[in-house]
Amino acid sequence: SKWVYTFGDGAAEGRAGDRNLLGGKGANLAEMCSLGLPVPPGFTITTEMCNWYYANGRRYPEQFEAQLDAALDHIGKVTGRSFGDPSRLLLVSVRSGARASMPGMMDTVLNLGLNDETVEALASDSGDARFAYDSYRRFIQMYSNVVLGLDHEVFEEILEDAKARLGHELDTDVTAVEWQEIIDLYKTMVQEELERPFPQDAREQLWGAIGAVFSSWMNQRAITYRRLHDIPESWGTAVNVQAMVFGNMGDTSATGVAFTRNPSTGENTLYGEFLVNAQGEDVVAGIRTPQNITEAARIAAGSDRPSLEKLMPAAFRNFVEISRQLENHYRDMQDLEFTIERGKLWMLQTRSGKRTAKAALKIAVDMANEGLITKKEAVCRIDPASLDQLLHPTIDPKAARDVIGVGLPASPGAATGEIVFSSDEAEEMKSVGRKVILVRVETSPEDIHGMHAAQGILTTRGGMTSHAAVVARGMGKPCVSGVGSLRVDHKNGTLIALGQTFRKGDIITIDGGSGQVLKGAVPMLQPELSGDFAAIMEWADAARRMKVRTNAETPADARMAHSFGAEGIGLCRTEHMFFDGDRIVSMREMILADTEKDRRAALAKLLPMQRSDFLELFEIMAGLPVTIRLLDPPLHEFLPKTEEELDEVARGMGVSPDKLRQRTESLHEFNPMLGHRGCRLAVSYPEIAEMQARAIFEAAVEAGRKAGKLVVPEIMVPLVGLKKELDYVKARIDAVAKSVMDETGVVIEYLTGTMIELPRAAIRANFIAETAEFFSFGTNDLTQTTFGISRDDAASFLEIYRQKGIIEQDPFVSLDVEGVGELVRMGVEKGRATRPDIKLGICGEHGGDPASIRFCEEVGLDYVSCSPFRVPIARLAAAQSAI
Ligand code: ADP
Ligand code: MG
Ligand code: MG
Repeated sequence: SKWVYTFGDGAAEGRAGDRNLLGGKGANLAEMCSLGLPVPPGFTITTEMCNWYYANGRRYPEQFEAQLDAALDHIGKVTGRSFGDPSRLLLVSVRSGARASMPGMMDTVLNLGLNDETVEALASDSGDARFAYDSYRRFIQMYSNVVLGLDHEVFEEILEDAKARLGHELDTDVTAVEWQEIIDLYKTMVQEELERPFPQDAREQLWGAIGAVFSSWMNQRAITYRRLHDIPESWGTAVNVQAMVFGNMGDTSATGVAFTRNPSTGENTLYGEFLVNAQGEDVVAGIRTPQNITEAARIAAGSDRPSLEKLMPAAFRNFVEISRQLENHYRDMQDLEFTIERGKLWMLQTRSGKRTAKAALKIAVDMANEGLITKKEAVCRIDPASLDQLLHPTIDPKAARDVIGVGLPASPGAATGEIVFSSDEAEEMKSVGRKVILVRVETSPEDIHGMHAAQGILTTRGGMTSHAAVVARGMGKPCVSGVGSLRVDHKNGTLIALGQTFRKGDIITIDGGSGQVLKGAVPMLQPELSGDFAAIMEWADAARRMKVRTNAETPADARMAHSFGAEGIGLCRTEHMFFDGDRIVSMREMILADTEKDRRAALAKLLPMQRSDFLELFEIMAGLPVTIRLLDPPLHEFLPKTEEELDEVARGMGVSPDKLRQRTESLHEFNPMLGHRGCRLAVSYPEIAEMQARAIFEAAVEAGRKAGKLVVPEIMVPLVGLKKELDYVKARIDAVAKSVMDETGVVIEYLTGTMIELPRAAIRANFIAETAEFFSFGTNDLTQTTFGISRDDAASFLEIYRQKGIIEQDPFVSLDVEGVGELVRMGVEKGRATRPDIKLGICGEHGGDPASIRFCEEVGLDYVSCSPFRVPIARLAAAQSAI
């Protein structure tokens, strides 16, 4: 079979589409050749060769050597040279290149083919001895490091010593004779370390380098990188062997890298850097400070060192033209490598360039407007998750950072504020207009008010799925979690970081994008939701099938979500409305009441508050659908936690604290998540559901009156497993609807549906759909109940599972398509079989996760619902899934 593909002289055996076989670098080198661009000739050894090599005990197939010789001859023919022949010296580079660009693979070896004899030939051929010895010493350094495995630093040390001794500051100041001395020192060092001389035979050098590239596919760095990025081992790497061109042949030579557009802003201007008389990665290695390519960039940077445009105008013009050609050809911003040898330009690499989220937006929109790509393509070019960065203030990249700790980037965005150590303090400070960062060891549901009041949340314990992380993401608040190096001392009110002590009121900044905690205030950049962002969103909306709703219960969240483009509320969690101010007292009275009569009395106090909440939500959503879920959590979540709170409730109810304490204890549950919650509450205490239904209907009537148009609420019954549960609760809801209609004389339209969040509900969905007019897949609980994993306790061991490769993704973050997804699919099919027009949606964290959204599109849900800050992400992800 064919193991080697040649390129050069305006032709190539491969092309850009052969990425899998030739790797990214090899495929693009071939493509550039076919486009007639100036590329030094060479060949690519395929990724299949890599796989063969490993399948056969690190050997090569028999036909390989002949193919290699033929390919070397090909380079020889194009260049008029011959590998290993000092009289027609041909030097090559050996470069690794996998399908996906992969750090951790073998570094490139340049100038291969040099030895004590050929270096003389190079010196006389080029008429530049300094250049020849500079090339040889580079080769010894690179080859010894990447092929022979010697430490890079030992060579640097020899070089630094020599330069100091000779009084030179720059490598370019070292003379030919001096390089010769350094080369001798290098060779002696290799001999001492390896007990054999530096290889002088060109073919031996070549085989060594090819073997080193293939071997590097299995080195630890590469294996780790593949695991982190889900790159299969079976992809293998290719090897590129290519004739050398020299950027280090004096002052008319140079080497550089460039982007066809600015990768940080996206601006449509060529952007890059170069160095005169340099080779390979000198530009990125930071040995000397590189110069700007264009005159405009030089002026903008205030540099007094000449641009390429000024210094080598002909090569520059050629390069500008080629960069345009490549961008048009690939229809994407390109990252380019080039070398100029005595005034002649050579292209050495092109690939799609990495860019910031902001640049990605601008480039996609600009390219669509230029007609280079379609609007749908522009929509697909944006990583939905990257929008997160754009919706929050971020730290100005130019700002200095005084980092005092690093934790997990739990929720994006940056925030600055005064340190507070308790949620009550956070609320007090907020009420007098101060900005605070809530600093806790970890948070619990009792911290919700403090988290709301704070600009951001910092915890010293807990992972990406800790309470703080999940709630902060839901609220769209920056959060850094699990900063283990920080110590919070609640008693003394201090935060200790790297030996510094911070107190309440001291200013810190957290960066939820990087996980950093910084001392003091730091300059920020504000999010920009118009312009390119708005354009992409508009195009996404045009391409999308599924609707995007939000999970919201507070007016602030609902408004924000609406401004982010939410098309209704998919989940309004009514219990969150019972924590505020006086409400919690009435709520406690209701829960702790002994009789239905007392319960109804307490509920009567809650009714007007609920009604006004719903009215406000209906008004904000202005005719868009609003799904309201009846009370869901176990009642004990609302109980008094302290003696003081208990006394307060007892006074209010006119009962003794002791009696109340007994009642509290009687509500204790061993496993509340599987206990007396969801529709089980409505079955035991139907008066609670009745009060909520009444509040909803009365609010709908009033909102309808004000707006002059009907509001159609969707009432959602949680945690249904049995059709009869839903039947029972729905009968109560219908009865309330009838009375409100009788009382008001207004016809109310509404839907009653259920969450599908128990496996039994999915399995019996065809029966449940006889009663339910909509399903909303509550995949948080469905994941919990399908796996039998408590999500409040799962963070620690799921992380271990992930590290050990047992699971790939936390199933609470990205839907487990194989298991939980199968239940969703079953629910969809069975639901539709009974009621073809049943409305289907998903709520919970998964509704804002792009991979899960793709699955929702696949099974044909009508909408996804997610937290407000995820709405734009969901809009984009839904569009991409539909395209
Ligand atoms: P990486 O993938 O790390 O960028 P490359 O294989 O692209 O590694 O090469 C590293 C450096 O060597 C780049 O600056 C590249 O342009 C340069 N280089 C590679 N091959 C040659 C060659 N044949 N002639 C001149 N420079 C080369
Ligand atoms: Mg490299
Ligand atoms: Mg490169």
